[in-house]
Amino acid sequence: MTAERLSCDVAVVGAGPAGLAAASAAATAGASVICLDAFGQPGGQYAMQPTQAGSAFAETSAVLSGQDAAQQAAAAGAKILCGAEVFWGAPVPGGFCLSVNRQGSALAVEARAVVVAAGAMERPLPFPGWTLPGVIGAGAAQRMLKTGSGALPMTGSTVLAGSGPFLLAVAQSFARAGQPLDHFVEMQRPSLTGLTGLFMRHPDRVFEAMRLGRDLRGTGATRHFGHIVTRAIGRDRVEAVEIAPLDGSGRPDMSRTTRIERVGTLAVGYGFQPVIDLTTALGAAHDFDAALGGWHCRADDDGATTIPNLWAAGETLGIGGAAPAQLSGRIAGGAAAAALGFPADDTAEPRKRVRRARAFAAGLAALFPMPRHLPLELPDDELICRCEDIRAGDIATAIAEGAHESFAVKTWTRAGMGPCQGRICGAGVAAALARAGIPSETASYNRAHLPLRPVPLPLVRDAMEAQNQMETRA
Ligand SMILES: Cc1cc2nc3c(=O)[nH]c(=O)nc-3n(C[C@H](O)[C@H](O)[C@H](O)COP(=O)(O)OP(=O)(O)OC[C@H]3O[C@@H](n4cnc5c(N)ncnc54)[C@H](O)[C@@H]3O)c2cc1C
Repeated sequence: MTAERLSCDVAVVGAGPAGLAAASAAATAGASVICLDAFGQPGGQYAMQPTQAGSAFAETSAVLSGQDAAQQAAAAGAKILCGAEVFWGAPVPGGFCLSVNRQGSALAVEARAVVVAAGAMERPLPFPGWTLPGVIGAGAAQRMLKTGSGALPMTGSTVLAGSGPFLLAVAQSFARAGQPLDHFVEMQRPSLTGLTGLFMRHPDRVFEAMRLGRDLRGTGATRHFGHIVTRAIGRDRVEAVEIAPLDGSGRPDMSRTTRIERVGTLAVGYGFQPVIDLTTALGAAHDFDAALGGWHCRADDDGATTIPNLWAAGETLGIGGAAPAQLSGRIAGGAAAAALGFPADDTAEPRKRVRRARAFAAGLAALFPMPRHLPLELPDDELICRCEDIRAGDIATAIAEGAHESFAVKTWTRAGMGPCQGRICGAGVAAALARAGIPSETASYNRAHLPLRPVPLPLVRDAMEAQNQMETRA
């Protein structure tokens, strides 16, 4: 089989708020645009579309905004391909070649410019018992509720735990779906002074915050502020959850633990990290900023990365929420088209709004800081890398023997070498390095390798054949 081939001026990776806005802007400027997304429908995380008729989420403003953005992009002439996962990207003469798994078939997209709007993913921090069945990400729980694509177990109580404003959004999804939520465990106790100051500076966000608080109370969940999950307990699946209050130094006070019994699901979320696999594969520079979710792609105000004709938008540039993502997409899409010679858009207004939206996100993030001593100490036999079966003790040994960077830990132990390419274990490895005194900004990040995502081997062969032909073309 040979890969199907498509070509365009601007390829956009990701059809979330940022990607759809980038596709619209570039297409409106006159560029031919292909927008690729791994999900079955456009919308990304914020505007995730329900897959079931009559869903309680069908009429939410987020879902409707996603439909609207997709329609606008299509009306401007952008071709949106869903179920299309980019598993590799490489420079070729005149632009880039993106290798895509399109529902089991290879597709090679040749583009003069690429906008990466790959969004964010959950930051999976390990804790004792985190791999037990029944322990899931808060985002995974929300996805099941929003799309209706899976059911949370109806037996046993449900615990939602972690930290950050996203937990409130997940609690809201429980309320909307009519799914019981029994315990809400938030590590922080955001200060009233801090909250008041933030909302006085951003009064337009007050109602949204009030709705989140109201919906959390509406779930009837027992609320445990200033507490952290210290252990998930069970034989074959999670049965109980141990929580402890944080002491003044930010450590869990293990003399005051409480056990929540008869647990069916523990959904845990400690915020997000930018998805940077494609931008690292394409060789762009990245920077570290804890307030932006850690390592993120470096770009100027237009979204231009350090690689010519490679642009980035949305949460690939750092965690900030849907509003700045959408605005940054509009700016980057327009700038990418303008760099190819299409008419430039006036971006003074979106630039002003993106700065304000990012300031709100930064203020909110500051109210939910990660305590210095977390994540928790792990027993040596706790699994960290699920793909390669690497345990906490293996990683501690490698660090003690001199593996002082994420990449060194990977080559020493194979943690991060499996199909997830470190997306799941990366935060755990970074935490182990930080515990050993090597902060994330020094430990660096793993540069992703072919294939970025799990894909059948024949597709890799077909896509590489297409890429080689583009590379060697006269
Ligand atoms: C699990 C999760 C749940 C969230 N829920 C909420 C919420 O309820 N409310 C809220 O305000 N914010 C939520 N957020 C935050 C939200 O992601 C953003 O604020 C907003 O959606 C960011 O827009 P974006 O376009 O940058 O990225 P996203 O919306 O994440 O869109 C990125 C898109 O890129 C696609 N993609 C990534 N890599 C590839 C690839 N290699 N090939 C093809 N496609 C790819 C993804 O499938 C995705 O559709 C959530 C984030 C996550 C990670």
